[in-house]
Amino acid sequence: EPIVITIDGPAGAGKTTISRNLADLLSYRYVDTGALYRGVAYCAEKACVNLTDEKQLSSFLQNLKLSLVRDAAGGLKLVADGEDITALIRTPAMSMAASKVAALPLVRSWLLEVQRKLGREKAVVFEGRDMGTVVFPEADVKFFLTADLSVRARRRYAELPEESGQSLDDVFADMKKRDEQDAGRDLAPLVAAHDAIYIDASKFTIDEVLGQMMVFVRA
Ligand code: C5P
Repeated sequence: EPIVITIDGPAGAGKTTISRNLADLLSYRYVDTGALYRGVAYCAEKACVNLTDEKQLSSFLQNLKLSLVRDAAGGLKLVADGEDITALIRTPAMSMAASKVAALPLVRSWLLEVQRKLGREKAVVFEGRDMGTVVFPEADVKFFLTADLSVRARRRYAELPEESGQSLDDVFADMKKRDEQDAGRDLAPLVAAHDAIYIDASKFTIDEVLGQMMVFVRA
């Protein structure tokens, strides 16, 4: 079985940068599972899928093809049925829409298979919310990366394009709501796996966090 490393935690804790860098250091593949949830949300909205209609939702999922490909700049490109939707899934509205579809059992079980298949192909660093708890309970190394809400909101605010029109207060409120939604749902709520290495990134730089992770990965 290829090696699986999982990095779970709330939004804005630095998971994406850290997962990508860790994958590069180890020459593993990097998979951003939040992007897959965002992709489902975007495509469902585009196809006007009624999310409360299970029949409609399941036939939509049966025909959906999402793929994550590494782009030249080292980022991940999300392609849905041949269309590059990378930029389209990064809006505040899509963050909230992703969190909504993420509570649906059909969506979670569809993505469970997609994610497990990726884990069988080659060594991967998976970033998400339930990678160490539900998708890969037997992962080789698990991290739970978090930071204070105010730190995470400031970081996310600094990343937003100016034209987003969002204030720091808006970002803070959205993030708080999404955290509560992700932690409070019945299915795969956001919690640290009992055997995850817990890292509070509030007080550390990205390089410091990576250094701590490498110690565990090499052990
Ligand atoms: O990580 P990101 O902010 O892109 O994730 C978007 C949403 O997708 C999260 O708020 C969460 O509801 C959902 N998600 C999830 N399980 C994962 C990854 C993301 O429920 N493994």
